[in-house]
Amino acid sequence: MLKTEIIGIKLQSSHNGSLNGGPGNDVLVNNDLAAASKNGADMTQIYSRVVERYAMFFDRPEARLRFLNNTLTKQADRQDRLQRRMGRSRLLGRTRIYDWILEARCYSAIFEEMRAMSSSLPKNRRRLTQRIQAPFSARLLFLIHQSRHAFQSRHAFYGAAVIGALLAIGVLYTFGAGAARGVNTYLASKYNRPSPPDKPPPPEPSFPGVVSKEKPWLFGKEGEYEKWSNGCNISTKYETDNHPRAYYAIPRGSGTDGDQAGERSDKIVGILYHTPENPMFDLTPDNTKRIQNSSRTLIEDVREKKKYNYLINRIGDIYRIVRDDQAANHAGESLWADAKNYYVILNESFLGVCFESKFDGASSLDQILTEAQIISGRRLTDVLRAKYNIDDANCTTHGLVAVAPEEMLIARHHDWVHFFPFEQMGLSNKYKVLPPTITDYGFTYNDEVLAKKLGGKLWEGAKMAVEEFNRRAARAHVSPDDLRLKLRDRYISQRNKTLGLHAEQGDVNNPRISKKTAAGESTESGADQSTSAAWKALTEK
Ligand SMILES: [Zn+2]
Repeated sequence: MLKTEIIGIKLQSSHNGSLNGGPGNDVLVNNDLAAASKNGADMTQIYSRVVERYAMFFDRPEARLRFLNNTLTKQADRQDRLQRRMGRSRLLGRTRIYDWILEARCYSAIFEEMRAMSSSLPKNRRRLTQRIQAPFSARLLFLIHQSRHAFQSRHAFYGAAVIGALLAIGVLYTFGAGAARGVNTYLASKYNRPSPPDKPPPPEPSFPGVVSKEKPWLFGKEGEYEKWSNGCNISTKYETDNHPRAYYAIPRGSGTDGDQAGERSDKIVGILYHTPENPMFDLTPDNTKRIQNSSRTLIEDVREKKKYNYLINRIGDIYRIVRDDQAANHAGESLWADAKNYYVILNESFLGVCFESKFDGASSLDQILTEAQIISGRRLTDVLRAKYNIDDANCTTHGLVAVAPEEMLIARHHDWVHFFPFEQMGLSNKYKVLPPTITDYGFTYNDEVLAKKLGGKLWEGAKMAVEEFNRRAARAHVSPDDLRLKLRDRYISQRNKTLGLHAEQGDVNNPRISKKTAAGESTESGADQSTSAAWKALTEK
């Protein structure tokens, strides 16, 4: 429905030159908002019209759709967050400050999206993003947004200056909540999205005693339970083996396959979080039996297929399934990196931790995890990190590491491509980290991945990573697609080296890997696949 509506927008300004950078369009857009706030007209309608007008910068319908989707989603997300933070304060009522904030946020979202999607713009329009005549407040907000990125690159000083400005207008932000809800209600009615409920937000869960300064230690064993000092109880009742871990840690930036140095490793370096996507019943007393049965079926399935190292059920019970020193079949084709090394085929180097839950179709974290699961997840994370000295940088989610090398696409599996509560697990937010799949190997996405797997929205770190990869290609004086082709061969070669260490075993999640492995397939045959139809389609695009 959304699509029809958007494609139906008339290209009203395409013939008067304003899309080519003439000042008319910019002034008009700006005046609309100013006039609206003077007349007390519905700012939300104006806002939506402004976004639609900027969407016309994109010629291709799917790019236009993506721009609209991303910008509107971004705006809705921020308002939702703001609303939760600010509660229902309407102290200032409808004042000039309201309009000012709303206007600034609107333009800021447009700026960011234009910048992120500049490669989809026709070449003669790319510079336009810098020429949108937005109010000063919006420019300031956009600078602040960029400064967050700057902190991760070389412009920390510049970033710090802008953060100062953020603090100053943060005070003004406080009063934007009422207007935010107005926009949401409007967007909901127009784009048929659920509007956030008009009630006070639930309190942030707090877990006294969970966050401990001491590293947890094994406190004792009782029957089929391991008891840890932080309250983490691990059931060992369903433990099983698969195959011992073995892989090559590939020095980051080395361009080798990791085997040259002969450094074969069996060390656990990371944790990968999953959802199994099994049917879910509401957590209510009358569903107790159904939940128990469904949970038991899941445990048996995970055990039989040796899918994960750990499973946390809906009431927070923690089960160890595949023993730690054994690789579980959880990650399939996958890639991650810390400052030192790349890791491919993460079954071998990462522990798989699965929360019994359903990710697909959920629109917020509380639809996926119970509070008991979050508490247990945090405790288990602390235990595993202490036990194996696991770096925060290597605690991430399946959706952020899974790849499809044939098509060079990210998110082959997409569990936890958003919503994972990193902070509540005591971890830094990996949605803000540039994923090595994109920056270092050139894995990318297409409209289908975006729509079906990423919920219409690329996570923040991935967006920056795409730009970074394009910059790297430019520095190397090759086209991004040519570079991608080379890196694809490198990935396949590295992956085959690791799989070669396990010629006997397969990956239940990925029959193709099993076959290759069983056949002891060499690097060369992997590289041959670069002529596959899917790959051709991508490079010819
Ligand atoms: Zn998964």
